[in-house]
Amino acid sequence: MQTTCDVLAFAAHPDDVELMCAGTMIKLARMGYKTGVVSLTAAELGTRGTPEIRKQENEESARIMGLTVNRILDIPDGNVQVTEENKLRVIREIRSCRPKLVLAPYWETRHPDHSNCSLLVRQAAFLSGLKQIDTGQPYFRPVKIAYYMEMYDFAPSFIVDVSDSFADKLKAIRAYESQFHTPGRQDNEKDATFISAPEFMQSIVARGQYWGNKIGAQYGEPFLVREAMKLDDPVAHFSDYKFAGLQ
Ligand SMILES: [Zn+2]
Repeated sequence: MQTTCDVLAFAAHPDDVELMCAGTMIKLARMGYKTGVVSLTAAELGTRGTPEIRKQENEESARIMGLTVNRILDIPDGNVQVTEENKLRVIREIRSCRPKLVLAPYWETRHPDHSNCSLLVRQAAFLSGLKQIDTGQPYFRPVKIAYYMEMYDFAPSFIVDVSDSFADKLKAIRAYESQFHTPGRQDNEKDATFISAPEFMQSIVARGQYWGNKIGAQYGEPFLVREAMKLDDPVAHFSDYKFAGLQ
């Protein structure tokens, strides 16, 4: 069944989008855009929780984010590869949703599934616009891919002000109770991981504040686009530009 959306975010694992760009996704949904997330894997290699628990957590998070489309593909966790088969899987998702904007992880990153997800989505987004690649769907190419930031920083092309949606971003992250530190829970220390430490959640808040500060906002989420950004009227654009640091 086809459900179109305005913005479609790809990730290797359920919970990646929540950590990196949920503020933007929630903000866009509130603005009236249809938003979607496609996770390439079910994260079955995760140290904590089970795929069943994670699926329930994922559904709760999707509800908090107000997603129109929420899909988990069956590419094996830990083995996201740029293959013909996987390219076709991603092309089918893009042609089904027909998003104007695609979000993907920045390609320089720690987890190989994340960097392969970035490359896979970039190639598939282009190929999706080729008529001769037949998936039984109309061909379609998104206007733009914006890459969201994970562990490794880049100089952002733009930063989205997510001050008003940041509290709900944290709720969406905390929906993954099995993955992150939950105050008061008995088994927080069992099978502890990098992301289950309480300091990890603090770092998400600190990073939101750090990027927000650069645009004079309380919280921000940075993105990178590979192409130059078009601006028709710089005067009008910057007249509306409230950057506290330069006033
Ligand atoms: Zn991940």
